[in-house]
Amino acid sequence: MNLHELPLHEASRLLGEGAVSSVELTRALLERIQAVEPRVRAFITPTPDLALSQARQSDERRARGQGRGPLDGLPLALKDIYSTRGVLTTCGSRILANYLPPYNATAVLRLAEAGFVLLGKLNMDEFAMGSSCENSAFFPTHNPWDLTRVPGGSSGGSAAALAAGMALGALGSDTGGSVRLPAAYCGVVGLKPTYGRISRYGLVAFASSLDVVGPMGKEVADVALLLQTLAGADPRDSTTPDVPVPDYRAALSGEIRGLRVGVPQEYFAAGIQPDVEAAVRAAILQLHEMGATLVDVSLPHTRYGVAAYYIIAPSEASANLARYDGVKYGLVAPGEDMWSTMERTREQGFGPEVKRRIMLGTYALSAGYYEAYYVKAQKVRTLIRRDFESAFARCDVLAAPTAPTTAFKLGEKVDDPVAMYLSDVFTITANAAGIPAVSLPCGFAGGLPVGLQLLGRPFDEATLLRAAHAYEQATPWHTYRPEL
Ligand code: GLN
Repeated sequence: MNLHELPLHEASRLLGEGAVSSVELTRALLERIQAVEPRVRAFITPTPDLALSQARQSDERRARGQGRGPLDGLPLALKDIYSTRGVLTTCGSRILANYLPPYNATAVLRLAEAGFVLLGKLNMDEFAMGSSCENSAFFPTHNPWDLTRVPGGSSGGSAAALAAGMALGALGSDTGGSVRLPAAYCGVVGLKPTYGRISRYGLVAFASSLDVVGPMGKEVADVALLLQTLAGADPRDSTTPDVPVPDYRAALSGEIRGLRVGVPQEYFAAGIQPDVEAAVRAAILQLHEMGATLVDVSLPHTRYGVAAYYIIAPSEASANLARYDGVKYGLVAPGEDMWSTMERTREQGFGPEVKRRIMLGTYALSAGYYEAYYVKAQKVRTLIRRDFESAFARCDVLAAPTAPTTAFKLGEKVDDPVAMYLSDVFTITANAAGIPAVSLPCGFAGGLPVGLQLLGRPFDEATLLRAAHAYEQATPWHTYRPEL
C-alpha cells in the first residue's frame, strides 16, 4: 500500500515501530497533493515547507527517545476555520483573506503538543455556512469520487482531502452537519462529538450553541485517536465541562452483542433516495446479525429541525459576525466615515449566503419578531432534545442515514438555498440536542459513497465509536479508494 493511502492509526503504528519516518510520510503526502490537488482543490493554503520542517523535528524527537505519543509526526490538515498562529486563516471568506491569527485554537494547540505535522488549511463554505463547499469565497472543491460533484459541506475540503489521500487525518467543524455530510459524500469517517467535549476556543464562531470541533479520518480508529488528544475541559471555553475522557481506542472492542440500536422511523420518510435507503437498511441488518438488538423508535419533531435551525443558527451568526467591521480583522474597504467603512467592508467582504444569514438572524432577533421566531425555535429545540432523551431511554445508539441523497452535481443547488438547506435534515437535530453522532461509509449508490449515521448519548462517544468500528471492521467499505 502507498504511504498516502494508510489510515492514520496504521501510520501511527508504523512510525512507533520505526518502520517509517515522519519525513517519509510527509513527503509521500506532499507528492500526492502535487499529483491530485489541481483536480480536487481541497486546500486554500498548503504549508509544505512548514510540514517538512515539523516532520524533521518529529523524527529528531523520536530519535532522541522523546517522542510525544501516537500523533507525533503524523501529517494532518485543518479546515480553514481553525486559528493557526502565523498561518493564514480565511474561514473561506474574503473578509479574512489576509488574516494571520496571533494565537492557536485549543484544538490546534493540543495537536501541536502531540507533535502533528500541518499539511495545510482546507477549503470550506464561507464561515461554515453551506452544504456543498460552493459558498467558499475562493473556489469550489470537487468530490474525488466524481469530480463533477460536490464534496458536501461545509467541511468539504477536509473530506475531499482525506478521500483523495492528501492527508492522513483532518479536522472539520459541525454546526448542523458540516462534518457528517461531507464525510458521507466522500466515503470517509466524521465525528460530531457531544457539545462541549472539545474546546471551541479559536474555532471561528458561527453559531456558538451548536458549533463543535469534528475529527475526521479514513477509519473509525483514526477518529478515536484524534478525539483522544482533543477531548477534555479547557479553561478558555466555559462550555467544556470536566467530564472524564475515557480511553476511546480501548473502547473499540469489535463487540456489539446486546447493544440496543434504535431505528428512528422519521429518517426513512419520503424523499430519501431509494438506493441510499437500501444501503442504510442493509447496514442496520448487519448490526443485527452481529448481535445488536433493533428497536423501533420515533423522533416526532425531526421535521421541524431545519426550520428551527435556520432561525437559531442565523440569529447567533448575526451576533458573532458583528465583529467583522473593517477595524479589528482582515479586510478594510475605506469609506468617508466609520459607518461607510463598515458598510463597504461588509458589502465587499461577505458573500451572498453570509449576508442572507445575517439578515435572517437580525430579523428573527428584532423586537417585534423575537417571540414569534427566536423563542419559538428555542422551544422546538427543547422538544427535539426530549425526543432523543426518550429514545435513549430504550436504546444505546440510533442508526440512520446521514443524508437523504448521495453527492449532488456542482451548481445543482446554488440558486436554491432551501434545497441546499434540506441536505441537512438528518444531521441538524444532533446539533440542536448537543448529542454525539458519527458518519461512516456503508456502501455505494450509483458509484457514490453512502453514509451511515450513528447517534449516541451525551458524552458517550465511546459506545458510539465502538458500534461504528465493529460495523466498519465487519464490512469492506472503508477499504475502497476513488480512482484519481
Ligand atoms: N449546512 C448547514 C448550514 O449551512 C450546516 C453547516 C455546518 O454544520 N457548519 O448552516
